[in-house]
Formats: sequence, structure tokens, C-alpha cells
Amino acid sequence: MSLPVLRLKKNEERRLRAGHLWIFSNEVDTAVTPLDGFEPGEQVRVETARGETLGVAYVNPHSLICARLLARRGAPFTSSDVVHRLKIALGLRRRAFDVPCYRLVHGEADLLPGLVVDRYGDDLVVQLNTAGMERLREAVLDALHKVLRPRSILLRNDAPVRALEGLPETVETVHGEVPARFALRENGLDFVAPASGQKTGWYYDMRAVRAWLLRWARGARVLDVFSYAGGFGVHAAAGGAAEVHCVESSPVAVEALRENFARNGFADRLTVHQGDAFEVLARLKADGARFDLVVVDPPAFIKRKKDARAGLAAYRRLNEAALRLLGKDGLLVSASCSMHLPAENLADILRAAGRHLDRHVEILAAGGQDVDHPVHPAIPETRYLKAFLARAVLV
Ligand code: SAH
Repeated sequence: MSLPVLRLKKNEERRLRAGHLWIFSNEVDTAVTPLDGFEPGEQVRVETARGETLGVAYVNPHSLICARLLARRGAPFTSSDVVHRLKIALGLRRRAFDVPCYRLVHGEADLLPGLVVDRYGDDLVVQLNTAGMERLREAVLDALHKVLRPRSILLRNDAPVRALEGLPETVETVHGEVPARFALRENGLDFVAPASGQKTGWYYDMRAVRAWLLRWARGARVLDVFSYAGGFGVHAAAGGAAEVHCVESSPVAVEALRENFARNGFADRLTVHQGDAFEVLARLKADGARFDLVVVDPPAFIKRKKDARAGLAAYRRLNEAALRLLGKDGLLVSASCSMHLPAENLADILRAAGRHLDRHVEILAAGGQDVDHPVHPAIPETRYLKAFLARAVLV
């Protein structure tokens, strides 16, 4: 079967040749291959202006990223290609982890653009985030069955990015019985992740950063802000924290976090502050509370570039509020999942907060997304998570 052609303008192949997978609509020679001649998700053979084949891509004429490369050859991308890519992705995770709990597919970085698969043992959560992946839906589900023989598959097609692709938001059980909570193990600890919780249920990307707490929480009074299901807090307790205070607004998350402390035998060290994080921090400050270690891992305050100013101000406010609650010699774990906030900017927020509150800040460790969220070296957007471990001392 031969595919329709998508022709690029002169010299617009350079970024793709250098490794990138995306094609923007202004790079297409629309006089030769008009974008409205394609259906959303349709596969095409991408050509340079001179007619050389660059690869096979899927198109979405309604999206700013109008095509994403699937393979560097002209033939259609089929279910056997999905199986092959899935096995390559699985190979990495099997080498890295001794339990089957991880992000199995991380979109572009695993050469499956627009696809996310999280694995909780025999239960899978899948997101098809583009029209092209939506069209490959049956191929993806077949491949997952073939490679993993899962007990259940939940399609969490409710990511906001789907709107950019003109796709509806839906949640659907496509195989087996999906449990209300997925069970997982991380760094030797047991957790549940609510199937109806944030994104795909669990933030696997923080695994390596959470492990910091195993080393640094001994004997500490810990405050875990934006705690979700207690990933950081439980690690702190496992690291020997004397007390762990979790701040979280969502009732679903609070229920899961209580369960996670109980499962690991730490319920007696947990205090939950359910409510708005900024309000809770202000109240704790007014009450004269002090902590030895504070974690701030907020939702993305900068979702789009145009939110940058307001978002930056929110990160500043949050990090200052966290520093204000530290004793004379305290530790701060500060994270951001906004891809529009580079790591240098977060480090600078810590510097500025330290100056403002007259504390000496030293950065002890820098981290980010764990290895099951690989970075595609040509696509900066795939490097989104950053975290610092800092010490703040009154000198
Ligand atoms: N630290 C968590 C992930 C945090 S995700 C982990 O390691 O898994 C962000 C969390 O912040 C979500 O659980 C969300 O419910 C919560 N949240 C969002 N806005 C909030 C607010 N204003 N106050 C308190 N919690 C909030």
C-alpha cells in the first residue's frame, strides 16, 4: 500500500534530519500538498522539496504540530511496528526495575509519539493523546495484549492535550475489570494509586527524587506539600521521619494517602492538612509551626507560555512560604513539572528566596524525571521535570 505524500518546503527537512520528529504547518509546501486534503490521524510519506523520502508520519491538519514522524522509511506504520517499539520500551524498563511498576511508554522518547502507557503489574493505563495515535488504537491495544497479556486496560483519554488535537475527553475500560485502586511498589515501599486520580493514577516520574527522602528524613519533622497519594511523605516516614504532615486539597488523593501510610505501617506518624496549600502554609506559619524538611511539588503553574509571569510569581511565593517554615537549618525539596520553567530558573527562585529571607541556601542535589520517562535529545519538551534538594541555613 502506498501512502499519500506530505511535501515539505525547501530546507525544512533539516530539523527532522537532525533528529526531531515534529513537523509544523508552516514547514509544509501546501501549494503541492494542501493540509486540508488530509484526514486527522492519516498516515503520510514525508518528502523533502526535492522529493526524497524522509519517513512515515501521521498528520493532523487542525493542529499546530501538523505531523509526527513514526519511522524513517516510506512504508506504512503497522501493528507489528507497534509490537516492536513496545518490546524496545519494555527492554529498558526490565533492565531498570525489579518490579513491573513504571511508565512503559513515554511518547516521543519511546518513538511512539502521542502514546503514554503506565503499568501497575497486570493493570495498564493508556493515553492516546493525538489523532494519529487514536487511529492506531486497535494496533496499540493488540500490541499490549500480545506483549504483556494484561488483566485490565483503562483508557484515560481525558488529558487536556487531546483538545489541541480536536479529540473528545473520555475514560473507558477496554479490557478486563479495572480495580478502583492500582497497587504498585516503588523503592521497596507499597502504594495504591487511585484509578480515578490525577492523570494516569501515579507520578512514576518522581521515583528517583522521592528516594532522596530515604536518606535525608531521619528524625525529621517533615511537611509534604501537594502530597497527592503520599509518594514523598511515605518515603520520608520510611527514611525515619518523626512526623509527616501532608497538605493536599483533593479528597480522592487524601483517602489514598491515608491508605498508603497505613499499608507501610506509618499511620501513627501522619497528620493531614486538607485544603488549599497556600492557605495551609500561611496558617502553619501563623501558628509558629517549624519543620526540618519541606517538600513542595505543585501542579504545573505554567501550563502555557503565556502563563509564564503569573506562574513564576506562584513558584516564588510557594518556595518562600516553604522556606519560612524551616527551622534554623532545614532542607527543602523543590520541584516543578512545568516544561516552560527551565531548571536554571527554579534554582534562581531558590537563590532569590534565600536572599529575600536572609538565609544561606546551598543546593545539595539536582534531579528530574526517572529513567522510565526518557528525554528525546532533539525534543526539549520531553525534559519537563526538575527538582532540587537545598539546605537553607540561618547564618
Ligand atoms: N507530590 C505528588 C504529586 C503532586 S501533583 C507525588 O509525589 O505524587 C499535585 C497535587 O496537588 C495534586 O494531588 C492536586 O490535587 C494537588 N493540588 C492542586 N492544587 C492544590 C492546592 N491549591 N492546594 C492543595 N493541593 C493542591
